[in-house]
Amino acid sequence: MTQYVAHGLLRAAHQGRTAERGRCVLHLDMDAYFASVEQRDVPLYRGRPLVVCHTSSDFCRHGVVATASYEARRWGIKAGMSVWEARSRCPHACFVHADIPKYLHNTRLLRRLCERLSPRVEVFSVDELFVDLTPLLRRCRPEERRWEEALRLGRDLKEEIRRKLGLTASVGIGPNKLVAKMASEFQKPDGLTLIIPEQLPGILAPLPVDRLVGVGERMRRHLRAMGVETVGDLARAPREVMEWKFGLVGRLLWEAAHGRDESPVVPGEEEQEVKSFGHSLSLRGGTRDLEYLENTLLGLCDAVTRRMRRQGYLGRTVSLRLRVGYAMGYARSRTLPEYADLTSPVYAAARDLLRREASSGLWTEPVTTVGVSVSQLRRREEGRQITIWECLDSREERLTAVLDALRDRYGEGVVTRASLLGDFALSGMNLAR
Ligand SMILES: [Mg+2]
Repeated sequence: MTQYVAHGLLRAAHQGRTAERGRCVLHLDMDAYFASVEQRDVPLYRGRPLVVCHTSSDFCRHGVVATASYEARRWGIKAGMSVWEARSRCPHACFVHADIPKYLHNTRLLRRLCERLSPRVEVFSVDELFVDLTPLLRRCRPEERRWEEALRLGRDLKEEIRRKLGLTASVGIGPNKLVAKMASEFQKPDGLTLIIPEQLPGILAPLPVDRLVGVGERMRRHLRAMGVETVGDLARAPREVMEWKFGLVGRLLWEAAHGRDESPVVPGEEEQEVKSFGHSLSLRGGTRDLEYLENTLLGLCDAVTRRMRRQGYLGRTVSLRLRVGYAMGYARSRTLPEYADLTSPVYAAARDLLRREASSGLWTEPVTTVGVSVSQLRRREEGRQITIWECLDSREERLTAVLDALRDRYGEGVVTRASLLGDFALSGMNLAR
């Protein structure tokens, strides 16, 4: 909330922007986002009180509620409440850990759906986006047709989100970001609300002042001391007084109380897609010992695939990087038959490449650096073709899951391969970040 004032309203004020004529902004707010994603993915949670928690403990005894499903809200459970309190209110609710990478991935998909509508999409928070519809509606005449068309776009977007992602959203549409955001709060869940400029004074005036974006608990207390309880009271307060008391923030709040907000929808930079995962190690003094090099490579492959699993990537091209003596480094690559994120296929390919290089007779000097990287990536959620072999032998996968869980809980150094023991440089502690 405050962030909005800091980054949106203030920036607009400093830039001295003038309002774009006939603006139309859509605000999308996902309903009980984390809980809805979990209920979509796990049928057992559907229709039941579900509490998604930020916690470090396994049984969610400590920590706070990140999101409560609508079923859980009926028991008075809300975001920010302690898990302990939520549990005492509804002991039979399901409690799960928040899986932030999964929600972020869904936000990315959501953003892509919005970008099909308009290139001006701003990810405001993990479950909120702004879409600037202005360019799409420019040709609509007369004015009323524009708002009708905006409503249709909002309805279609909601339908698309339901169809493609299996989630519901509340949509607000208005002449600027501030009003659009307030509009989406009017009807939840699964709402669609339009506020046109003519309706603004009537809708805003009776609202409690803290419904304005940017009015937190402290500001509400200050305003109350001035006799300002509703948005209407604030709008009637002299602008100079607000400016004198609260500076620029005061002026912006006063503008907000009149439903004015000129801050633009700012499309963020497209996140840098990861292109490869790699690790390398320089070997002091260098070595020609093939067994030692293979062991080093195994440790590196462990670390690389661990990072891939953590970030949800599978990869197909394995590259071995070597530096011999003081010459420039070079690389050899091989493509795997299947996408992988486990050590053994990656290591097998890298070791093969290493052995081939070793037998080429080109190593006139000791190897000083060895590294491995995996590229040609794809997201794990996009599905992996499971071969019959994996079904017959999923031992490595199961073992890896256990090891990952151990490292998540106790740190990278807690388990290491017996073959890497005694080689401090290679124990996972130094490698996996
Ligand atoms: Mg939400």
